[in-house]
Amino acid sequence: MTALIPTATSERAIAIRREIHRHPELGFEEHRTSALVERELDELGIEHRRVAQTGVVGVIRGALPGRTAALRADMDALPIDEDSGEACSSEVPGKMHACGHDAHTAMLLGAARELMGRRASLHGNVVLLFQPAEEGPGGAEPMIAAGVLDDPRVDAMTMLHVDPRLPTGTIGITPGPVNAAADELHVTIRGVGGHGGYPHKAVDAIPAAAATVLALQNIAARETDPLAAIVVTIGTIAGGYRNNVIADRVTLTGTIRSYDPAIRRGVEARIRRIVGGVAAAYACSADIAIVYGYPPVVNDPALAAAFTAYVRERNGTPVEALPPTMGAEDFAFFAERVPAVVVRLGIYNELRGSVHTGHSPQFRLDEDAIPTGIATLVAFAKGVTSGAIQPQ
Ligand SMILES: [Zn+2]
Ligand SMILES: [Zn+2]
Repeated sequence: MTALIPTATSERAIAIRREIHRHPELGFEEHRTSALVERELDELGIEHRRVAQTGVVGVIRGALPGRTAALRADMDALPIDEDSGEACSSEVPGKMHACGHDAHTAMLLGAARELMGRRASLHGNVVLLFQPAEEGPGGAEPMIAAGVLDDPRVDAMTMLHVDPRLPTGTIGITPGPVNAAADELHVTIRGVGGHGGYPHKAVDAIPAAAATVLALQNIAARETDPLAAIVVTIGTIAGGYRNNVIADRVTLTGTIRSYDPAIRRGVEARIRRIVGGVAAAYACSADIAIVYGYPPVVNDPALAAAFTAYVRERNGTPVEALPPTMGAEDFAFFAERVPAVVVRLGIYNELRGSVHTGHSPQFRLDEDAIPTGIATLVAFAKGVTSGAIQPQ
């Protein structure tokens, strides 16, 4: 694998990854990171502009006619205290690159270096998207609003995400849905407060809330095709004043995860019927709000199949068909507009301690995966721009 990418390019990407890892920045605060990206692009002679506050978009124009491919990397870190033991650990208390976005940014810069170096034989254009705030509140939508898919018009795009489910040196591509939609549920159940010794003089919101939590499980257990997928998780429940007071109000919050747009559309009516019905059965009322978040990410099936065959043959990379995850990813907004494929990059390596899932304070990233990631991005760009791989 490593032979596909010059050692100097991989070493530069690893140095950049460590530099970003030491200085993690949260969403829309990626000032240091985007300045680093701009410096690198300047050094490579790649035109670029600022979008979406801290986002950077670069364009490599090939010498030959062809299509336009976009490659996206996210740049933001998480509000976590690092406990990985890595030599390049975070120097900022309470912030950590625990999702691998430092490596995503470094690999995209590595791919930019390789593609710029081969510009004489490059068809079409390659758009480099360095995106802020993937972990929230979301940088993809403001980048799209800034026109990053329009000029040059993007024909197909990809992103890498590191994934400890796969060993280093391999990648995962799933045709169809890969990441779930993540929507928020907020419920307030209202009764009438009173004395704990005189329940008949009050309307207790607590048993109504308890029954609501259980009844909501019916959406997954009894109302959805068992071969489809939905999660309704109640994450918080809060109410009451003290042991001898009947609670007049309980608030619940939760997350709703799904892949299928039809199931996602239908879930709000189910929640309103169940929560409203249970509250009424307990003589309570309920306020229900659903806040729609990131949509599901759906890989273009033709593009996923074509790229799987292409990267296996061109790079010799083992490609696994990973099952989708219930994690969310705001790349969904790009994939709604342009045929797209998410590539999971294997980083599992016990010898390096690269075994923890993302968002863990112990998360470590096996840097031996970086050449594979760069080679995968380069292959996608070459395949799309030359017309060797095509979406439906
Ligand atoms: Zn994450
Ligand atoms: Zn991530």
